[in-house]
Amino acid sequence: MEALQTVRKQIVSLLSEEDLTAMDISHLVRIPEKDVAGHLSHIHRSLGSTGKKLIIEPYSCMSCGYQFKKRDRFDRPGRCPQCKGSHIRLASYRIL
Ligand SMILES: [Zn+2]
Repeated sequence: MEALQTVRKQIVSLLSEEDLTAMDISHLVRIPEKDVAGHLSHIHRSLGSTGKKLIIEPYSCMSCGYQFKKRDRFDRPGRCPQCKGSHIRLASYRIL
């Protein structure tokens, strides 16, 4: 539990400094990229009371430019619903 909170604090402090993708966060904090999604989701919910906001630059399709704006999860989408392409540009996050 302690370790989880430390990881979350690290992520919050990194995102307060610069825009990062889940892959960047995974490298910087040394956790698997799939775990980053869960932390972001928790951070997103817990920031509400602090007056800060998690700003999300959404995943987008590299083939047609479709943006996954409505996505309420943080893990990578598999395919573009518009062109069925699978080259998805990573979302990036920032805390402001
Ligand atoms: Zn597409």
